[in-house]
Amino acid sequence: MSPQDESLLIRGARVLTLDDADREWANADIVIEGGRIAAIGPDAGGDWPRAFARTIDGSGLLAMPGLINAHFHSPGNLMKGSLPGLPLEIFMLHEVPPLATGGDGGRLAYVRTMIGALEMLRRGITAVHDDAYHVPVASTGSIDAIMQAYADAGIRATVAIDQPNIVEYEKYPYLAELLPAAERRAMDQAPRQSSAELLALYRHLIERWHGAQGGRLAAAVSCSAAQRVTPDYFAGLSELSERHDLPFNIHILETKLQRVLGREKFGKSLVRHVHELGHLDERMMVIHAIWIDDDDIGLLADSGCTVAHNPVCNLRLGSGVMPYRKLRDAGVPICLGTDEMNTDDAVNLWFVAKTAALLHTLATPDWRQWPQPAEMLTALTRGGARALRRADRLGQLAVGFDADLVLLELDTVCFTPLNDLRRQLIHCEDGSSVRTTIVAGRIVFEGGRITGVDEAAIRTEMRELMAAGRDQQARAAQQALRLEPYYREMVLRAAAQDVGMNRWLN
Ligand SMILES: [Zn+2]
Repeated sequence: MSPQDESLLIRGARVLTLDDADREWANADIVIEGGRIAAIGPDAGGDWPRAFARTIDGSGLLAMPGLINAHFHSPGNLMKGSLPGLPLEIFMLHEVPPLATGGDGGRLAYVRTMIGALEMLRRGITAVHDDAYHVPVASTGSIDAIMQAYADAGIRATVAIDQPNIVEYEKYPYLAELLPAAERRAMDQAPRQSSAELLALYRHLIERWHGAQGGRLAAAVSCSAAQRVTPDYFAGLSELSERHDLPFNIHILETKLQRVLGREKFGKSLVRHVHELGHLDERMMVIHAIWIDDDDIGLLADSGCTVAHNPVCNLRLGSGVMPYRKLRDAGVPICLGTDEMNTDDAVNLWFVAKTAALLHTLATPDWRQWPQPAEMLTALTRGGARALRRADRLGQLAVGFDADLVLLELDTVCFTPLNDLRRQLIHCEDGSSVRTTIVAGRIVFEGGRITGVDEAAIRTEMRELMAAGRDQQARAAQQALRLEPYYREMVLRAAAQDVGMNRWLN
């Protein structure tokens, strides 16, 4: 019997379904069979015709849908806490060093991915949308290492290959003229992959991993950002997304510099650029969308896309504040992401939701416009499910849905006294009340331990691998510092432009 076939009864828990009818019960059962919810409601398991492999006493526990981390880059797991606050364009010199050589496949990619998956499961995150980059180039080995880690960890994972394929200085405004000729030559010679090579890697990802582990693993596509890929590769990805109905990851207008870039390079906003290329559609998950104007908001709303909001990352990199209420009023669905561990060093989606709930109070004195706890809970669950193209299977506790759920202890400081469940989930809970995490009907975290992985051994190996890579890390840091003055000049020049809006506090 595979774990997916095991049956499980959660008996007598408080239940927050977040389903279409927004049902909530003070005392109800959840019956799980074949990885899905077979029945839910008061005494739903009472006279169930079959025996259960396991029964969990739900008294004192809250059952709710598992959180979905809609935007994440697992390769950043190595860099938790490593960087000071830096604007995106400087930060990326460290994150994805433009002159890097060598490869990042094998055991390091496996352990790195596993570390992040374990941390998320401990906090009640049952699914992750990983926009995984590969430095300097992707390979079947580096892709397989990431997917195998997710397979072994037990988390639900949808993974893209985030691989820009144009020369570094062409991704930015002003940079080509600011860089010395020698640095430009070095960037010309840095490893890059052709559209054909990258699309072949996508074929591998889809054939080997899409739908693996009973559907727990899935593929997505990613162009990283419109300005980072060749037009033919962008079109190839869009076609792939349509053919297999895959989520399409794209970072758009994360920074003011990108607003300037759109004007300098394409003569228009990057949202309009992607729209006019014909790629802006309901499969797209538009990441950040901070420096957008009203025309962009209209295009995003008409396309049916989902916007991934990553407020902790945005604050960490000083990117600015996404116009949350304007997007919501236009009908754009929002999901929440931690982004990577070098920009949300705690990968704590509870804190992301609280930050989102608080941040947008600065947008207007009209408190009725401020994000409400119910909206944040929707973004944490159903919003993420929609971004994953799985809204019919994930994000709610309802019959037929995948059994991805979390059990929270209510006898904790976060919920004592218990005044308002939803508000306390957003403003008090930090992941410390999570007692049990269940993915596809399988218990993956329980009693303070991840069930299928030797966590201590993984942490030990992570430390050893980092120590072994110290010389390479030092070289990358040196290289970033050498390039930084030219990038700083570029960032400051873009910051001084009038782009007809302001998303900063100044
Ligand atoms: Zn990102």
